[in-house]
Amino acid sequence: MKPSEKLSLILGQKLGESRIIDDPDILDQYSKDKSHCLPSMPDLGIRVKTEDEIKTVINEAVKLDVPIVARGAGTGKSGGAIPVSGGIIIDTSTMTDILKIDRDNLIAVVEPGIITGEFQKAVEAEGLFYPPDPNSLETCTIGGNLAHNAGGPRAFKYGVTTNYVLGTRTVLPNGEVIKTGKITVKGVTGYDITSLLVGSEGTLGIFSAATLRLIRKPIEISTLLILMPDEQSAGIAISKIVAAGLVPRVLEFMDSSVTKVLASKGINGIKSNTGSIILAEVDGTDEDFVEQDVLRLGEICDNAGAIDILMARHGSEREKLWAARRLMSDAMAETAKFKISEDIVVPRSEISKLLKGLKDLSKQYGVNVASYGHAGDGNFHVNVLWNEEDFKPEKIIGDIFNLTLQLGGTITGEHGVGISKQAYITREQSPALIAIQKELKKTFDPKNLMNPGKIFP
Ligand SMILES: Cc1cc2nc3c(=O)[nH]c(=O)nc-3n(C[C@H](O)[C@H](O)[C@H](O)COP(=O)(O)OP(=O)(O)OC[C@H]3O[C@@H](n4cnc5c(N)ncnc54)[C@H](O)[C@@H]3O)c2cc1C
Repeated sequence: MKPSEKLSLILGQKLGESRIIDDPDILDQYSKDKSHCLPSMPDLGIRVKTEDEIKTVINEAVKLDVPIVARGAGTGKSGGAIPVSGGIIIDTSTMTDILKIDRDNLIAVVEPGIITGEFQKAVEAEGLFYPPDPNSLETCTIGGNLAHNAGGPRAFKYGVTTNYVLGTRTVLPNGEVIKTGKITVKGVTGYDITSLLVGSEGTLGIFSAATLRLIRKPIEISTLLILMPDEQSAGIAISKIVAAGLVPRVLEFMDSSVTKVLASKGINGIKSNTGSIILAEVDGTDEDFVEQDVLRLGEICDNAGAIDILMARHGSEREKLWAARRLMSDAMAETAKFKISEDIVVPRSEISKLLKGLKDLSKQYGVNVASYGHAGDGNFHVNVLWNEEDFKPEKIIGDIFNLTLQLGGTITGEHGVGISKQAYITREQSPALIAIQKELKKTFDPKNLMNPGKIFP
């Protein structure tokens, strides 16, 4: 009998048959995520409902040397939840409770499987705010957000997931549960293990709960869709907005290729003379303050040559201005048979060099390279699009990473290394830095059973 078959029998007895997933269709879903990485089938899936169940599954799996991969909603873009060595999937999407919203201390305690957008709605109903907003927030889970240290459009003003994680409960590969972090705003006792676990891509332990920091909900929000004649003028406007000390909560950029496709579809009334788009959002708790910032931001864009500035202050009207940003990824995918998207980051001062370098690579390889993203953070989603079956994208992807690193950037700003960027991590990090991370992994997981085959080559 295979170890995973034995494990299935043991866990069936301990947790009940209904938790054991061996339906080939569900296992097939567990074999992939939203990346372009090749699927790999797990032997088994387990839907857990409590921390104790996670412990039981890990203890039994480790006894039989069966690899373990945690999974939230499977929206990851770097193959993080793909079980490359087979074994079992621990599906935490069934642990969806909000255990506490503590208004006095501005914290919430949640289980890992809650959908990020649902958690946000629950805290906003209490007049509070959890800012991290990956664009997948309607489907992804808090556990996956912690594992990838997810960011989103609002990161420019509010930061990313790690800035809101005060503590975790984490089940380690030896079955022990550790409570990391604190519920206080300050606290420096010992090493910052919470920060190590956040962004560890499910390789060091499985989150069974998270204590999250909340802030007061902004009551005034204005959204601006700014149509610029070309990328250069958009670049100038963005640098001037930042230099003026304005901190819009969103500062997104779409390049000429993306703008052309959106204009051809008539989205948001974008005309063909538009060469690039900025989407900005200003928020705050004071109406006058927000209005002043909106006026200043509009003035800067006008001076940089804006063709048109569309503005909205209320829910559904604001949402309409987001159409360009939300529809863009699918609209781009329709323009070619094949698409790979990378999420690089460069220092903000290097954005124009990055965009120029990407145009040069597009010409050199004869493929379309379209970029959009969180310009305020220097974080771009660079899409390579092509139609020829025999085109191999690895070389241009490698050159995009080289360009990024030459400009002082990093190969992933949000999606993680997973398996998709494993081959490139040595271009960014020194052997000594990689060695110390491997030692840490060994300390947590001496048998290398927790999400094996990820991050490090
Ligand atoms: C349309 C779309 C838009 C996106 N936009 C953004 C964006 O704006 N910003 C961004 O950062 N990302 C974005 N992503 C990527 C993805 O949604 C995020 O990485 C998200 O955090 C993954 O959450 P998940 O629940 O789907 O995790 P999964 O894909 O299930 O897993 C991701 C990783 O987390 C680990 N994991 C999951 N649950 C746990 C747990 N309980 N304990 C320990 N490890 C765990 C897995 O092992 C895996 O390594 C986008 C994806 C899509 C498809």
